Amino acid sequence: MSTTKKIHAYAAFDASGKLQPYSYEVGELSPNEVEIDVLYCGLCHSDLSMLDNEWGLSQYPLVPGHEVIGKVAEIGCNVSNMEKGMTVGLGWHSGYCGHCSSCKTGDENLCQSAQPTIVAHHGGFADKVRADAASVIMIPEGIDLDSAGPMLCGGITVFNPMVQFDVKATDKVAVIGIGGLGHIALQFLRAWGCEVTAFTSHDSKRQEALELGAHKTLNSRNQEEIEAAADSFDFIISTVNVKLDWGMFISTLKPKGRLHFVGATLEPLDLQVFSLIMGQRSISGSPVGSPSTIDMMLQFAKQHGIKPKIEMYPMSKINEAFDRLRSGKARYRIVLSNS
Ligand code: NAP
Ligand code: ZN
Repeated sequence: MSTTKKIHAYAAFDASGKLQPYSYEVGELSPNEVEIDVLYCGLCHSDLSMLDNEWGLSQYPLVPGHEVIGKVAEIGCNVSNMEKGMTVGLGWHSGYCGHCSSCKTGDENLCQSAQPTIVAHHGGFADKVRADAASVIMIPEGIDLDSAGPMLCGGITVFNPMVQFDVKATDKVAVIGIGGLGHIALQFLRAWGCEVTAFTSHDSKRQEALELGAHKTLNSRNQEEIEAAADSFDFIISTVNVKLDWGMFISTLKPKGRLHFVGATLEPLDLQVFSLIMGQRSISGSPVGSPSTIDMMLQFAKQHGIKPKIEMYPMSKINEAFDRLRSGKARYRIVLSNS
């Protein structure tokens, strides 16, 4: 006899941008699945883009939330590495195919059949969430749980390129956009040993960016300041979701430098190819990171005392939390709490 139960969540039913309480029924756990009692869930700009159906991917009812911290509530019969009550997390992915070459070589985040947590799957703004065990992250002891959720999407998205592109302690690195992702990037890069520059469009964030680890700050919309930084950086991570003058940012790269996009800028890039050719410069992008890179990041964050700066809201105030993120005033990541 199959058993069913209800998960109590917050869902949007169309692109109007409002969430409402929503319960959905689930059956028995699949053999490889884990059910998590959600303690906290961070609010990422990708949740807002999905709420607004900016990417054309949203399916309704849409339950956002993909920076989950919680306790294992139940495990499927094939799950042997977890037990009830363990502290775990869940990020952008809730499952991987497990057999493609990306999965087999430890690049699960590049699996073309990976299941995003909030696309055709109900996410973490809920009392519970389910996911394949392969995508569930064990949270090491000594990590603050209330602020750990944002590491699982925001944090890994900026940590992963440092690993993928072998960013060195001697590199000069810039971060464009000091929001949820960018403020964690500054902390990681500083602890990594780099000389760190923060590009922000808000002069009010400049002092805070220095406190977060930047050595210097520049205004991301000020042509003179950017031009004066010509030939400065080995690596730039862009976390903004808007169009900036990318050609000007390319000119701030040293020869062999790289402009790496993690922010989901929708407008096409308008670049002069010669600016890439002449300095053998690169542009690239990447999605989140693999489970093993997430483990590495959590150890690094623990070792260096790196934590997202958060504003906590009760889960019931989810619409206010989205409005706050939309306003651009959040410093720097909003987390919703079930307690
Ligand atoms: P966020 O907290 O809203 O931060 C975005 C930052 O972009 C803002 O704080 C702001 O920084 C800057 N910005 C916004 N509008 C701007 C404008 N008009 N001109 C110049 N700068 C502007 O968002 P987030 O959660 O960090 O996410 C950032 C982006 O990454 C989103 O597009 C999100 O979907 C994407 N994302 C991608 C991945 C991935 O796997 N690649 C994972 C997570 C998120 P300043 O105030 O400092 O200018
Ligand atoms: Zn995210």
